[in-house]
Order: sequence, then structure tokens, then C-alpha cells
Amino acid sequence: MQTDPTGKKITRRTATPAFMVRKAGVRMTRQRRAVIEVLLQSYDHPTAAQIYERAKELLPGISLATVYNCIESLAAQRLINQLHFDNGPCRFCPNVEPHVHVMDDDTNRVIDVQLKEGLSPEDVFELPEGVHIKSMEAYLRGEIPENCMSENEK
Ligand SMILES: [Zn+2]
Repeated sequence: MQTDPTGKKITRRTATPAFMVRKAGVRMTRQRRAVIEVLLQSYDHPTAAQIYERAKELLPGISLATVYNCIESLAAQRLINQLHFDNGPCRFCPNVEPHVHVMDDDTNRVIDVQLKEGLSPEDVFELPEGVHIKSMEAYLRGEIPENCMSENEK
């Protein structure tokens, strides 16, 4: 779970461009606002190139370098998740709730899935004595029906 410095949970509701730049320790610019707005609306796990294409629609003059820098500063502060899959460029996820990813084998589509209500990683995995899970970055592979929507895409 991501928290702000006071220990308050970061949720989709609290994650705004103003909040994100403050947490990342950078100042607000039109460019950063555009990149963050794109990110906060992108639950399809876009690549940096896709984020750049979308940010250009909001702010035509934005440069790829600016987009990369902004994404990197947000990822470094763990305000967004940077995902490394074995078969392609990094992808980015604005969902800061604990979740794992399922990737479709054929289309490389990625969706978020939460643990079932009331379960923690400790309930699901055989963890050796003393091991405590602080965050999850697992991903699963399989088939995702075309019409399947994860909770945050609805
Ligand atoms: Zn995700």
C-alpha cells in the first residue's frame, strides 16, 4: 500500500496532478500536468511511447524527453508502478492499491487483479517463517477474454 508522509493511504481519489508533483518533489508545469493527467486515466498499462502519444493530444508541443523525465520522477517516488515484463518495453500503472497483473499471452493486454476480499499475500502463499510481504509485484500469464474488464476499467 502506498502512503503519503503522514501515513494516509494514497487512493485514486487522492492521486491528482497537484498531489503527484508535490510528492515527487517537483514543481507543476503544463507538461507535467498533461503527463500526469494521461497517467491517471490510463489503466491499460501504457508504455512511455503510448503515454507520449496521449500527452501530445493534450499538449501538442510536449517532447518525448519531458514525458520520460516526468514518468521517471513519479516512478522513482513509487507514485506509479513501473512494470517490467519479459517481452517488451516498460509499462506503467497508476493503480497504487495492492494488486497483481495478468497478461494475455496472445495480445499482451495487461489487467489489474486484486486479492479476494479479506485475503492478504500471507493467506495465499506458503511463506517461510518470518517472511513479511510489504508489496506485490507478481504477474500472471494466461488468457483474458476480449470483453473482460478489470475493476478499474469499468
Ligand atoms: Zn496495474
